[in-house]
Amino acid sequence: MPLRTSYDAVIVGGGHNGLVAAAYLARAGRSVLVLERLDHTGGAAVSTRAFPGVDARLSRYSYLVSLLPRKITDDLGLRFAVRRRRISSYTPKGDGGLLVDSGSPARTRESFLRITGSDRDFEAWQRFYGMTQRVAERVFPTLTGPLPSRAGLERIVDDPVAWEALFERPLGETVEAVFDDDLIRGVVLTDALIGTFTYAHDPSLLQNRCFLYHVIGGGTGDWDVPVGGMGALTDALADAARAAGAEIVTGAEVTAVETDGTQAEVSYAGGRVGARHVLVNASPHALAGLLGEAPPAKPEGAQMKVNMLLRRLPRLRDTGIDPREAFAGTFHIAESYSQLQTAYEEAAAGAVPATPPSEIYCHSLTDPSILAPDLAAQGLHTLTLFGLHAPARLSSSKDALLKATLAQLDAVLAEPLTDCLAEDADGRPCIEAKSPLDLEREVGLPGGHIFHRDLAFPYASESTGRWGVETDRPNVLICGAGAVRGGGVSGIPGHNAAMAVLEQAM
Ligand SMILES: Cc1cc2nc3c(=O)[nH]c(=O)nc-3n(C[C@H](O)[C@H](O)[C@H](O)COP(=O)(O)OP(=O)(O)OC[C@H]3O[C@@H](n4cnc5c(N)ncnc54)[C@H](O)[C@@H]3O)c2cc1C
Repeated sequence: MPLRTSYDAVIVGGGHNGLVAAAYLARAGRSVLVLERLDHTGGAAVSTRAFPGVDARLSRYSYLVSLLPRKITDDLGLRFAVRRRRISSYTPKGDGGLLVDSGSPARTRESFLRITGSDRDFEAWQRFYGMTQRVAERVFPTLTGPLPSRAGLERIVDDPVAWEALFERPLGETVEAVFDDDLIRGVVLTDALIGTFTYAHDPSLLQNRCFLYHVIGGGTGDWDVPVGGMGALTDALADAARAAGAEIVTGAEVTAVETDGTQAEVSYAGGRVGARHVLVNASPHALAGLLGEAPPAKPEGAQMKVNMLLRRLPRLRDTGIDPREAFAGTFHIAESYSQLQTAYEEAAAGAVPATPPSEIYCHSLTDPSILAPDLAAQGLHTLTLFGLHAPARLSSSKDALLKATLAQLDAVLAEPLTDCLAEDADGRPCIEAKSPLDLEREVGLPGGHIFHRDLAFPYASESTGRWGVETDRPNVLICGAGAVRGGGVSGIPGHNAAMAVLEQAM
């Protein structure tokens, strides 16, 4: 139970962003209460022993870190580390495959040459990602400050070609102008489609917004492995918040927020509590319900997450690469440019795609600490699969989608995946799949949307306040993924909501 009847700030939800906000506000001397619906904190950033009797702590939902600024880990003194993956990606094709080895441009060039028959796409790749890298260096530091105007951000980017490619024209136009090969184009496009149901030429530029956040993290665009799994970040944040004096109450679902603009009352399972500010880590869709307003249209999540534990890594049809390298980075399956478009069209029409695109990655190759020592010693490994173009509208076909997705994986393996799956204490294979509806039920993601709503460009618009966290109630702020520049494991909206509160008080 909360210790007080009123707080400077009550935070609705103990996802990682709610915890970031709590830690900043408590460190600034504010009284802070976090009310979390579930019996644990972390939301979509948690580690779980998903298989009975098996001591493997899987990152059950989110699994890689890019967007968490160093500033937040430093400010909060977090005991949390990430590890870089040397292999950026591997994409099988026939009995070969495309390897992007960030430690060896020469090896990457050779691989491009084998797959595409020339150096052209490799050189285009170097130029294209050189451009995104420069944009990352300039844009990423702005994410933890007040929102720049569109013109202000354009000045910061200071590169008309990059601005047009990323902020003005459908990404498909650039991808097709820059790259020739269908497979290379597809590998580039995947970053525009993660958790986002869209296509290369979408005139709304939803694909560009998704792509931007996937290439600017940390000022490099690298996606790193959270040491100890994603739960290690949440645990470090909860520790930091508590150490600064924040109270965290779990099993406390908030049911209503009433405010006169300066003082609020928060009702939750267990009672009512007063608050000067209410910071909402739940989605904007849920917030409308808490305020008694008509909710906005529910967003639609578009992915299937599959967690697995393997007795051993499977052998590949491509004998030219060690599976320990191929699975260490992002392993793309059925993700050529044309395959992505076909799968989008099939899913948009309500059908399970014939060749569902997905990407997989093995956490334990880079960080075996999530496995009990005896499992690691026996050579067990985790395998994470993130399926694209699996919108909520297909959730009732989850089994068929899983089967079709795993068939695409099997097609590039030299042995069936099922032969490699470990078994739990009851003799069942260690595999679980989460559809958007599962995510809505378990984590509260609206429609299973992993970013709470569609991502927005990181600049001000008519509907945004100074920090991108404001609502039309002056003392109710969004501190979760649904804020402008929210989405992903970043802590950024939590930081920004805390800054907005502290600024109001000045
Ligand atoms: C399968 C999957 C894979 C992903 N992979 C990645 C990845 O690899 N890297 C990455 O950066 N991002 C990834 N994401 C996205 C990322 O996990 C989320 O965008 C991010 O975790 C959102 O954090 P949050 O704290 O804003 O919200 P959430 O994590 O959604 O937390 C919100 C919290 O609020 C609580 N809550 C909701 N309503 C109430 C209420 N009424 N009362 C009390 N509490 C309430 C919820 O229980 C939850 O704990 C992934 C997401 C999913 C689902």
